[in-house]
Amino acid sequence: MTDLQIAKKVTLQPISTIAEKFGIDSDQIEMYGKYKAKLPLQAINKQNASKSNLILVSAISPTPAGEGKTTMSIGLSEGLNRLEKKTTVVLREPSLGPVFGIKGGATGGGYAQVLPMEDINLHFTGDFAAIEKAHNLLAAIIDNNIQSKTASLSLDPRTISWKRVVDLNDRALRRVIVGLGGTTSGVPRETGFDITAASEIMAILCLAENLSDLKNRLGHIFIGYTYDKNPIYAKDLKAEGAMTALLKDAIKPNLVQTIEGNPAIIHGGPFANIAQGTNTVIATLMGMSYSEYTVTEAGFGFDLGAEKFFDIKCQSAGLKPKAVVLTATIRALKYHGGADLNSLTTPDTEALKKGLPNLEKHLENIAKFKVAPVIAINKFTSDSDDEIKMIRDFAASKGVKVALAEVWEKGGEGAIELAQCVIDVIASDTSDFKPLYRWEASVTDKIETIATEIYGAEYVDYTSKAKLHLKKISDLGLDHLPVCIAKTQKSLSDNPKLLGRPKDFIITVREIEIAAGAGFLIPITGDIMRMPGLPAHPASEGIDVNDEGEITGLF
Ligand code: ADP
Ligand code: MG
Repeated sequence: MTDLQIAKKVTLQPISTIAEKFGIDSDQIEMYGKYKAKLPLQAINKQNASKSNLILVSAISPTPAGEGKTTMSIGLSEGLNRLEKKTTVVLREPSLGPVFGIKGGATGGGYAQVLPMEDINLHFTGDFAAIEKAHNLLAAIIDNNIQSKTASLSLDPRTISWKRVVDLNDRALRRVIVGLGGTTSGVPRETGFDITAASEIMAILCLAENLSDLKNRLGHIFIGYTYDKNPIYAKDLKAEGAMTALLKDAIKPNLVQTIEGNPAIIHGGPFANIAQGTNTVIATLMGMSYSEYTVTEAGFGFDLGAEKFFDIKCQSAGLKPKAVVLTATIRALKYHGGADLNSLTTPDTEALKKGLPNLEKHLENIAKFKVAPVIAINKFTSDSDDEIKMIRDFAASKGVKVALAEVWEKGGEGAIELAQCVIDVIASDTSDFKPLYRWEASVTDKIETIATEIYGAEYVDYTSKAKLHLKKISDLGLDHLPVCIAKTQKSLSDNPKLLGRPKDFIITVREIEIAAGAGFLIPITGDIMRMPGLPAHPASEGIDVNDEGEITGLF
């Protein structure tokens, strides 16, 4: 059965029944149809949240298909609920780029899903649309200001870094020229589009704690320079009020349910290879306000998403995670051990053994943050007993707890061993979270700490453009911001071809973008893109809807 067919068989509970599990009355929630609702920000209870055990689900370096972090997060939360631990899973919203591209949706898979999956994957409650509008409103205001004779701030069009966004994989929009058509149609200039998940507005929404914090951050968005080389921010264009107005509902977290009828909160959807990559702080605090255990996800691999989760999000919001579940698949380890992408379903303990150093490096990285790890083997039907034993033996040799998780096949029942391991490591109270670096360190120190300690690089090289950007950051007084490195997820290095545990490599910082509103700097390494493209045969070819409005082909 496909994910959508499994999802369709479930009898959903009204969303008010799910809210009641939090003790929240139906008149306090805003319904978006029968099975989706927005929760009011006043429902966050920081006192209760500080007592909740926060669990981060991350992964080893993935194959292009994804190793099942979302599936694992949902399954683990079902398992914990089965063990009578009140648990909420808090996740990102899917982006339409991957939904119509290669990867598919982001609502889990098999018997570990959040529902209604077709709604969550397509438009959901309109948060992405609101983010896109707020982002493009600022772009329109900028071009309008350049056009105006009387209101002009003398913005130099060649220095403007604010682009436009759309939530699709559309490579043809990467670089565009706007303002063609003569004197009434604007001033021609080169700009481009990013995917909405990469918007700084998305990053801001994910870190904001309330509406005034959101507005303040929006005002601090850096746009470019005047001809006199003075920096211009969104607040200089009086844009932040209207942008916040567009986001007044998008800031509220969305409540839905899992297949087993447990609450799930889904809110915000940035990409971890180009942004901080986890759901909103508001959603995490909301989940923590009503649960003993709160499960959240950061990826792609631990090197990207989890480092940013710890060093940016946890620091910014004062969160102290209690455990990391490191999702590992036998197929990805074989891939890192040199096996061909097309032969990953064939048992191959030789390749698996060669791939284990990738797992080992991610475990070493978790230890640097002083958070207790548990390895979750995400079981695929093709995994052999010998292969599973090899990972169990490896974990034992490292003194790390490991569980075989069959959440895709069995839902919460398949997560009992994992849930028990997580409960045990949290009860042993060995975690004492500490970030990797201090925000006050110099920009190059911060980049080099991450590159050498987490990625395992020899040193960091900066292009001459990146060096100019370092100077610009220093001139703008932004050295104190944390760094959110954009890097391929396919390798621990910035070269997607270096699999396993690469050694003796150099990280090249190509340029450094400024996200002054979100509050971080984005050193860009390798060839990473902020607007993806579609494959020759995109997933959209298989998606359809019948006369009854029922969707098929989503996965
Ligand atoms: P991630 O969050 O790491 O990107 P997902 O949880 O979204 O990964 O899973 C990626 C895809 O793999 C989904 O389509 C999901 O249904 C599928 N998947 C995950 N785990 C399994 C499994 N154990 N067996 C088969 N398919 C799986
Ligand atoms: Mg995911």
